[in-house]
Amino acid sequence: MEEHQQALFYTDAALPPDGFSDANRRAGLGIFVCFAGFQPSKSIYIRARRRVNSVLMAELAALVLAAKVAETLELRNATFYTDCRDLVLQLQKGEAQAFWSLRPLISQFLCLQDRCVFKVGKINRQENEIAHCLAMQAKAMSNHTLPSFSCHFLNHGIACDAIPALQDVTWGPVDLIDVICF
Ligand SMILES: [Zn+2]
Repeated sequence: MEEHQQALFYTDAALPPDGFSDANRRAGLGIFVCFAGFQPSKSIYIRARRRVNSVLMAELAALVLAAKVAETLELRNATFYTDCRDLVLQLQKGEAQAFWSLRPLISQFLCLQDRCVFKVGKINRQENEIAHCLAMQAKAMSNHTLPSFSCHFLNHGIACDAIPALQDVTWGPVDLIDVICF
């Protein structure tokens, strides 16, 4: 997937604030992937849910989900954006210094970098509007059974490479709702 090398992943999570309800809350996760520098541009929208213990863990879970998508699509490098400053600070501290509750997910994030170079950037909330909306929608959705996958990208036609690859993944604790490619 040479043409996907300029992949920008916008990530966000939605859940009640820490201390608002029980510790094991279900967060909505939203990922907006934009493949820049290639015409016509292509994008992928992902909605998912996952149980978490804190806002920070939810934001990190969204980042790990995005990293898993990058790995699955065999990207060589990927840039991940979050609007959560605390998450960027925790990642900069590294696995050993970060909050203990975040370490398993940080370790997972680092492991996914084996074949792909990751960059993490902090953006403003306004710049993260699409991922934010996807996360809010995921949080509000009622229970579903199987994830749905669809491709509306005209130039893919019958040969969409992203959807078949993502359909094969075991998502673990992540409850994938849908993946839409445009
Ligand atoms: Zn597609």
